[in-house]
Amino acid sequence: MRAFGTVVCVLMLLTAALSGQQRRVPAPPKLPPLSYTCVHHPDVLEDKPGVCPLCKLTLTPVRLDSSWMCPVHTAVIETNRGTCRLCQRQLVPVTVSLTWSCRADNASHLEPGLCSDGSPRIEQRALRPHGNHNPRHGGQFFMAPDNWHHIEGAYPIARTFRLYVYDDYGRPLPADKLKDVEARVTSTIDDAVEFAQNAPDPAPEEAVTDLYA
Ligand SMILES: [Zn+2]
Ligand SMILES: [Zn+2]
Ligand SMILES: [Zn+2]
Repeated sequence: MRAFGTVVCVLMLLTAALSGQQRRVPAPPKLPPLSYTCVHHPDVLEDKPGVCPLCKLTLTPVRLDSSWMCPVHTAVIETNRGTCRLCQRQLVPVTVSLTWSCRADNASHLEPGLCSDGSPRIEQRALRPHGNHNPRHGGQFFMAPDNWHHIEGAYPIARTFRLYVYDDYGRPLPADKLKDVEARVTSTIDDAVEFAQNAPDPAPEEAVTDLYA
């Protein structure tokens, strides 16, 4: 009976210790899944480990998440939609890579956790290549065929076409790099006819109205 009592006591102590521990360590947040990318080809993204289809290098894990960034102050990256705290511009949706680090060292981790001094690791959200596909001038935004440059074509006023060129992070290309870019704009009557022929069918509401008429 005494032995039984001791066991119960030990069990109660253990339970207390465990629940104490649970209270100290916050419940792990739901993390976005790991993706796998190539250090040389960040446009390569796989959902499982492997090698890069372009250069055969072993893919490295990244944790990608959606965030909101100021189109001007790219250091302003928030988890929720809203306006920039510096300039009040509307934040635009971007893809960031999520890491955690400690003040004591620069090592970055793919999971939150505790630092050697017991403090929690600090979450870092960094814009990743191809994470910003937002037009900046009200035009259409494309990835160039080299999978590195990005271009935006805008048609602000009649007879004026403007082409903007960006880097892999969606930053405007510096003027000295711009002279290396060759571009050709083609617009023909045939294109316009083809576009009109491939235009989508009338809106479903109209189709439904026809059906019941
Ligand atoms: Zn590669
Ligand atoms: Zn701003
Ligand atoms: Zn891109």
